[in-house]
Parts: sequence; C-alpha cells; structure tokens
Amino acid sequence: MGDRKVIVVGAGIAGLVAAFQLKKKGVDVIVLESASKVGGRMITESSNGYLIDGGAQFLSSAYKILSDLIDELGITPEYVETSRIVGIVRNAKIRKFRYDSPLSLLFSGLLTFSDWLSFCFGSFKLLKKTKGIPINNYAAWKEFDNEAAESWSDRYYGKNITEYFVEPLLEALYFQKPGETSKALPIALNAFVAHKAKTMTLAGGIGKLPELIAKGLDVRLNTSVDKISVKGDGVSIYTANQEFRAEKVILATPAPQSRKIYTSQSAIEKELLSTEFSSTVNIAFALVNKLPQELNLNDVYGVWIPRRERKIIAAFTIESAKDAGRVASGELIHVMLSGEAGEIMVAQNDESIITDVLEELEQYLPCISENVAFTRVYRWINAEPKSRVGRCEKINDYRKSINNHNKVILAGDYLGMPFTEGAAETGIWAASSVLSKA
Ligand SMILES: Cc1cc2nc3c(=O)[nH]c(=O)nc-3n(C[C@H](O)[C@H](O)[C@H](O)COP(=O)(O)OP(=O)(O)OC[C@H]3O[C@@H](n4cnc5c(N)ncnc54)[C@H](O)[C@@H]3O)c2cc1C
Repeated sequence: MGDRKVIVVGAGIAGLVAAFQLKKKGVDVIVLESASKVGGRMITESSNGYLIDGGAQFLSSAYKILSDLIDELGITPEYVETSRIVGIVRNAKIRKFRYDSPLSLLFSGLLTFSDWLSFCFGSFKLLKKTKGIPINNYAAWKEFDNEAAESWSDRYYGKNITEYFVEPLLEALYFQKPGETSKALPIALNAFVAHKAKTMTLAGGIGKLPELIAKGLDVRLNTSVDKISVKGDGVSIYTANQEFRAEKVILATPAPQSRKIYTSQSAIEKELLSTEFSSTVNIAFALVNKLPQELNLNDVYGVWIPRRERKIIAAFTIESAKDAGRVASGELIHVMLSGEAGEIMVAQNDESIITDVLEELEQYLPCISENVAFTRVYRWINAEPKSRVGRCEKINDYRKSINNHNKVILAGDYLGMPFTEGAAETGIWAASSVLSKA
C-alpha cells in the first residue's frame, strides 16, 4: 500500500497541471495514468517523419495558463503561429478568408453584405458586453447560459450566420449541434477576438507540452484505477493489483470514466459526473505529393463544412499550413467527423471509415485517393463535454460546495471550457482547492 498526501488520477492536461502546481508547493504527489503515455486527448504521434496531433489540434495565444507554462518550460521558440487563413464551404465551394480580417470575410463569398453587417455588428456588441470575463473559465459565463445557441443565433444574427458560422464552428471544434449547446459557448469564443487571439501550435507537436510537464513528476503509467472510495480520514484508490491511500485525490478523468470509478458521489458531484460527451473520429492522411497549386489551398489551415453541405466531415486541416516542419514530404490532411457521424463510426473498422471519408473529401481535394501514402485513425468516444444549457450553474455550485471535508476534488474539461486551456484551468483550481483547504 502506497500512502501519499495527494494522488492525481489521470495524466491529461488537467491532472498534469494540478500535479505540477502541487509539486511546486512541495506537496508529495503522484499521478496514476491508465494509458502507456501521458497527455490523454492532447497527444502527438510521430509516423514516417510526419507529426500527427491525434486529439487536440491547435492552441491559442489567448490561452494564458498554457502560454505561461510553455514559457516556464523554456519552449517558447517552438510555440509558433499557424496560417491565419481558413475556409468555410458554401454551395460546395471553399470560401477562403483571414480569421482576423472582417474585410476578407466580406469578399470571401461566404455571406451576403447584409449577413456580414449583422455578423460584424452583433459580434462587436457582444465584445462590449463580455469585456473582462475570463475565456478559460466556463463558470464565469453563467449570465449567458440560459438558451441554446441555435435559437439565440437565429434571432440575434439571422439563420444564415447560424448555418454558415455558428453551426460549423461548434461541430468543427466540439462535435456538437447548436441546438444542444448553450449560447454561452459561442459567446465566449467570440471574446477571443478581443484578445487578438492567434491560432498557435508547438513545433514538436501539441503532445510535447504534457510530456514536458510530466518529466518533473512521479507518473505511474499503465496504472488503471478501478475504484476510488472515501474511507476514514482519507481515500483508498484501487488498481487491479494494488491499493493506494491518500489524504486527497484529484480525479482528473473525463466524467463518463469518473462516474464509474468514484463510489462516494454527493448529489452535486453526481450532477456534474452525468455530463455527456460528444464523440468523433479523426483521420490523418499522409499524402505522397503536395496539393495541386490550382486548388489554391496550400495556405489554408482549416476548412469547416456546414451541415447543409456535409455528409460526415465537420472539418479538415492542411497540416503544412499549421507548421511546415511537421510534414516530412507531400502533405498531411487531418479530418474530423461531426458528432453525429462520430457516434456511429467510432464502432466501424478503419477501412470502412477511410472509404467513406475519402468519398466526401474527393469533392474538395480531387484525386486524393490516389495520393495517400498511409493513414492513421483516432477514435474518441469521449471527445468533448457537451455544453448543454445549465452547465455553468452546475460548475459554480460544485466549486462553491468544496470545503475541507472534500477528500476527492474533480478536475477536467467538463468542469470548465471544453478545450485544453479550460482543462488546465480546472487543474489549477483543483490544486488550489487542495492547498487552501489543507
Ligand atoms: C479530436 C479532438 C480535437 C480537439 N481539438 C482541440 C483543439 O484544437 N484545441 C484545444 O485546446 N482543445 C481541443 N480538444 C479538447 C482537448 O483535447 C481537451 O479539452 C483536453 O485535452 C482535456 O484534458 P483533460 O485532462 O480534461 O482530459 P483527458 O485529456 O481526457 O485526460 C484524462 C486522462 O485520464 C486517463 N484515465 C482515464 N481513465 C482512467 C483510469 N481509470 N485510471 C487512470 N487514468 C485514467 C486517460 O487515459 C487520460 O490520460 C480536442 C479534443 C478532441 C478529442
């Protein structure tokens, strides 16, 4: 039996950031991780000289916690900007624009002049209303968490903006429908504009960040936790062949996994642990040759496909526009399926997924099928927490409820913003709860 002051379960970015903070404060902490490597949904695989981000795709210069960590770990020179050019499909054509240039959006052909005006004016008005609200803490967006994104966007911006901006945004980034997502999420994302946010990546792959954080920590890999029970003045953590005891546990696994292993849930914990997750499948296609010049896509990083245009693909990226250094030769295309397609296709074999994806991709990248060197498929059953209306309030209630009697503190993106920075914020919060209530 190994006795520790704090045990963190899960070596995703939330758990690692929590353990990193505790270790800095001199707390005796270990991390138990079921997988054979750290990072969870933030992983990079190296294959034949190509670097493939299998889960999280990009970072943002507005990610304060992660940008500071990157600095602290001494890898700022590797923190590089992606291309600012994106595309959204309308009438089967990719409409290219710079995400930081409203004028280029106007001339892209995506929106009519009156839709563009409504979008720019509406977004600007929102920026004034949301000034100062932290973009990495979902609980702070409670006042906007009272209606689904779809009905709000139809009314606020108009149907075309819902269909050609809000819907593809929520599917490409979170694999979720606007009807099942709170308006708090797109409103919070709009606030990235106020931070002049740039999309960023790490030259060594996004998975390099969790790997570097873990280097200074005692992480036990291949250690799957089966059960966590609060007993006496501490917590018992059971794996297949070992029992650990700790004064406190930070449980940093996604809600569907946490609810299976944590046996002493309070009513509010139960509420949070019932958070549903969207699913997706990501498919990387390494290409022998570069994309033909006449496609005029070589400078485009991400392409979103709205539901009116899509079969199964929510988005694809052209990885040399993210960072040329990660593409050994030819090109690397990364495809993300919509939540609806993901839910069904996670259960299918690689071959049938690849066949269906190539059929749709051919519309935008003709002859891609003859150009594929190899493929990688990543299945994410628990891809992103669904931000249904009311999630902010539940998180607020939970955070307020924590006191010294809580032996298990929950962390992970389902307690925050559904992205890496949001998960990291929950890790900082969990660590500070352990420290301040100690
Ligand atoms: C396809 C995809 C694309 C995304 N794109 C982006 C993006 O571009 N930008 C962005 O910022 N975010 C993105 N995200 C979201 C981001 O990846 C997550 O929000 C974040 O990584 C979640 O971190 P976490 O620590 O909460 O959970 P996780 O990363 O899921 O970590 C949980 C850890 O717990 C471990 N674990 C589970 N069960 C047990 C157990 N029983 N015992 C021990 N360990 C266990 C898991 O193996 C895992 O390592 C994306 C996510 C996906 C799936």
